[in-house]
Amino acid sequence: MGESPYRFISGAYGKNHFELDKPFISVLDYLNYDYAGAGLSSLGEFVGRDVYEVADYVDKVARPKLIVWSLDGERVDRVWLDPAERMVLERLVGHYGVVRSPFASGDWVHYFASIYLIGDPGIACILTVTSQTAYSVYKYGDEATKKRFLPPLTGEGAQAGGDRYMFGATWFTEVQGGSDLGANTVEALRTGDTWRLNGNTKYFSSDAGLAGAALVTARPRGAEPGAKGIALFLVPEFDSEGRRNFSVRRLKEKSGTAAVPTGEVEFHGSEAILLGEPEKGVYYTLEGLMVSRLSNAVGALGIARKAYLEAYYYAKKRRTFGRSLIEHPLVQRDLLEMEAYIEGTMALTFSAIRHFQSTYKDTPPYTDEYHYARLLTHISKNMTADMAAHVTKLAMELHGGIGFLAEFPVERWHREALITPIWEGSSNIQALDMLEAIAKKGAHIPLLRELEDMAKDIRDNAGRSLYTDSLELSRKTLDSLGRLSVDDAQFQAKDILERLGHSLAVAILTHMANILNSRRILTVAHLYHTRFIRREPLPRLSAKEISEVIEIDRDRGGQIMRR
Ligand SMILES: Cc1cc2nc3c(=O)[nH]c(=O)nc-3n(C[C@H](O)[C@H](O)[C@H](O)COP(=O)(O)OP(=O)(O)OC[C@H]3O[C@@H](n4cnc5c(N)ncnc54)[C@H](O)[C@@H]3O)c2cc1C
Repeated sequence: MGESPYRFISGAYGKNHFELDKPFISVLDYLNYDYAGAGLSSLGEFVGRDVYEVADYVDKVARPKLIVWSLDGERVDRVWLDPAERMVLERLVGHYGVVRSPFASGDWVHYFASIYLIGDPGIACILTVTSQTAYSVYKYGDEATKKRFLPPLTGEGAQAGGDRYMFGATWFTEVQGGSDLGANTVEALRTGDTWRLNGNTKYFSSDAGLAGAALVTARPRGAEPGAKGIALFLVPEFDSEGRRNFSVRRLKEKSGTAAVPTGEVEFHGSEAILLGEPEKGVYYTLEGLMVSRLSNAVGALGIARKAYLEAYYYAKKRRTFGRSLIEHPLVQRDLLEMEAYIEGTMALTFSAIRHFQSTYKDTPPYTDEYHYARLLTHISKNMTADMAAHVTKLAMELHGGIGFLAEFPVERWHREALITPIWEGSSNIQALDMLEAIAKKGAHIPLLRELEDMAKDIRDNAGRSLYTDSLELSRKTLDSLGRLSVDDAQFQAKDILERLGHSLAVAILTHMANILNSRRILTVAHLYHTRFIRREPLPRLSAKEISEVIEIDRDRGGQIMRR
């Protein structure tokens, strides 16, 4: 059959998306992460070929379909995926162990690095909600629940008779509100030892028709109103007598995220397993959202990276006015801006992941370090979502007219980017939660302490002035926040988040440049600082500096000193 014709329409297809991504490898170096041992190169090959092509095919040709009735008139409510998508998912879960690593060895970097490399938000969502489900069962399930659900959810296989793999799901949003979890109306009733759920308001239910078990928020009858009255349940697809335990009303028609089916779910006396204590359900739910928000952040980075790759390879080939696009100064400027934006927000996000990694076992009441990880998570989620929208827009623009055609991959990346500020808590909600983490939990105190600590590693003068400038901006932003009334702080919350995010991105990039002894990363930090903090025209760099930044797939022959 030969090579897929997809290679004629995509520049990024068929390449190893890990090996070519030298800036990402630098971030892993900075974290001291053993990526060779983690098998990321082999995953990079798989995502650059099979996952890349299948995700685009699913979007354009083969969207998931809900099968409601079986041949013999039985209600089944299962989703039919394109067989190629099923193959890709089985390999990601089974062979590459994407969901398994945090639970088998406590390695969250592997999980988040994998989601970044996958990039496609539909496939990433299926794996994310499965990890989130496993995470809540791991933390709050009783022994029997863990034994039954953790092996298939994490892809370790099941005991005899059970499913080998199982997808999870997280159904919190209801028709009357997603941001306002306290408005949930699905009700839980306990009869003897059994909890049962009732309600038809779960309105955005990803993995409906795929999930073998779902995390569901519901209010036990008689519990207090608002978010504090919400408990967290695990609802298996089949009840204890083997009957379907809930119904899928329909699948949504979406402008992106095609690979994941998103539906509406109804509970009619559905058997449910309570996780932990009912009064703490809202805390458990928010803990799980740390996983999905960080997934969203690396997913947004992955989307931007794929769009960058398409634009970069196209700019090398396409010629106008007698030279290739990549030789035109203004195209170089666009690519420099895109790359600096990706790398700054990537440094920020992996710093958040490092803090999540050391606090993921925290339970209420939480440590200061946990609140700090949460603060960085809110900031990373918004910063990467804004970045992905901007970078994918520029990537489309650099393709000229064909960038607007649905026939080529780059337009999809822009559509996909636009989900990232909405789900897992919209950007406004992240900004408001950031205010809460600062005002009520003092999460900015460990942040400033860490920034002051990191300053000791900055050796060169150029780096020191950049670092001092961004540290000062963080301090000033936090000081001015402390003087605002509650309403004024809410009004400015997104602007404050953005200023903090930009200053942290520059500080972490500068620190990384010093730790890795990399002139290239220092140049990127300068570009980021000029464009997003000073908001001045980008400096005209030498041809060598420009190529060092934008040619992300070029090995620098040991220029980056690995620790
Ligand atoms: C493709 C897709 C898949 C999804 N999958 C799932 C899933 O599997 N499980 C799940 O639980 N949910 C899922 N969602 C739902 C998603 O998480 C919600 O749509 C999102 O949290 C926003 O909730 P909402 O749509 O009810 O908007 P609303 O809560 O009505 O908010 C509307 C707008 O108002 C803003 N807003 C709300 N309150 C405030 C405030 N106090 N101050 C300032 N601004 C405010 C919000 O930022 C938003 O911009 C999915 C959504 C999509 C699009």
